[in-house]
Formats: sequence, C-alpha cells, structure tokens
Amino acid sequence: MIVQSRIHRGFGNGAGEIGHMSIDIDGPSCNCGNYGCLETLSSGIAIKRRMQEEIRRGVESSLSSFEAEAAPITLKMIAQHAQEGDRLANDLLEEAARYLGLGVANVINLLAPDRVIFGGEVIDIYPQTIQTAEKIAKARTFSPQTKNIPFIKSSFGEQSGLIGAAAIIQQWVFDTPETTVMRV
Ligand SMILES: [Zn+2]
Repeated sequence: MIVQSRIHRGFGNGAGEIGHMSIDIDGPSCNCGNYGCLETLSSGIAIKRRMQEEIRRGVESSLSSFEAEAAPITLKMIAQHAQEGDRLANDLLEEAARYLGLGVANVINLLAPDRVIFGGEVIDIYPQTIQTAEKIAKARTFSPQTKNIPFIKSSFGEQSGLIGAAAIIQQWVFDTPETTVMRV
C-alpha cells in the first residue's frame, strides 16, 4: 500500500494484508488460521478449488473430464474454457472477481485511494476481473467521489514482488542514510 508516495508498513509491518481481510464469516479456511479471508475467495488457488468442488458436485463443465482423470486443472485452462463458452468456468472467474470487488470496496471506504492497481496471475489470465471488481466496488462505496477512482492494471507484471522489495530497501536507505552507512 502506497500512502502519500511512501510504502505504508504499519505497526509491526502488519499493514496491507488485504488478502486476509475477512469477507465471509463462514468461509473457507485460510492458511493464516482464519476463515473466509479475501484470498480464500478470489485468488487463483480459490478459483481452482471451487472448480474442483463444483465438478465433484456434478455441475456440468467442459473441464469435467480433466478432473475425472485426476489431471490438474490450471487457472489458464479455466480461463481458456471460459472464453470458449464453459458456463461454470466463467461463473467461477466472475464470482472471484465479485469477491475482489467487495474487498476493494472496503479498502476504498477506509482509505479513499486515488487509484487502485491490480496485478497477479488471475488478472493476467482473466483481465475482465478488473471490470467486474470495479463495478461491484463502486456500487458499494460510500462517497460519491470514489466513483471516479481509476482501476488499472499494474505494468510491473511478474516483477512486482521484486520491485516492491527493492522499493522498501530504497525507502529505508533514504530515510536513514547515516544508519545505512554505519551498518554497511
Ligand atoms: Zn487469511
């Protein structure tokens, strides 16, 4: 999270854990120990898990044969089958995007950022996620001004983690040049 051009890390570096925002009190278990965190509902892993659950429940999908053969269903396959008209694949990608929109609405209501930037595997394989999330988020935000917040795709791609890590170090060096020189 960037606040006034600086990385906001919060007390104990605990800020920005948007993926662990509680969205569904009875939702799936998360690796953080809680239930119904945003990432259990809108991440790539969540989409794949939902696809397996629905196929096992007997919902029709052009991906059913892959599940039956115990072949791993990838996110790319889900996006491809959605594009080719598979209803279940499309529904699950849209469901994940709606949950993401809920999470973003909560962030907007708390912080009113001047832009929301999306990145990651799900956005890369299913860019429509941003449009759906924007529609849901803007329908649920309080201030009328938030309707003008741009929702955009990150240009960093797979490098975003590296760039973020480098930015933390860069900010630390510029914040504490003397300490940095002494420690080096
Ligand atoms: Zn969690």
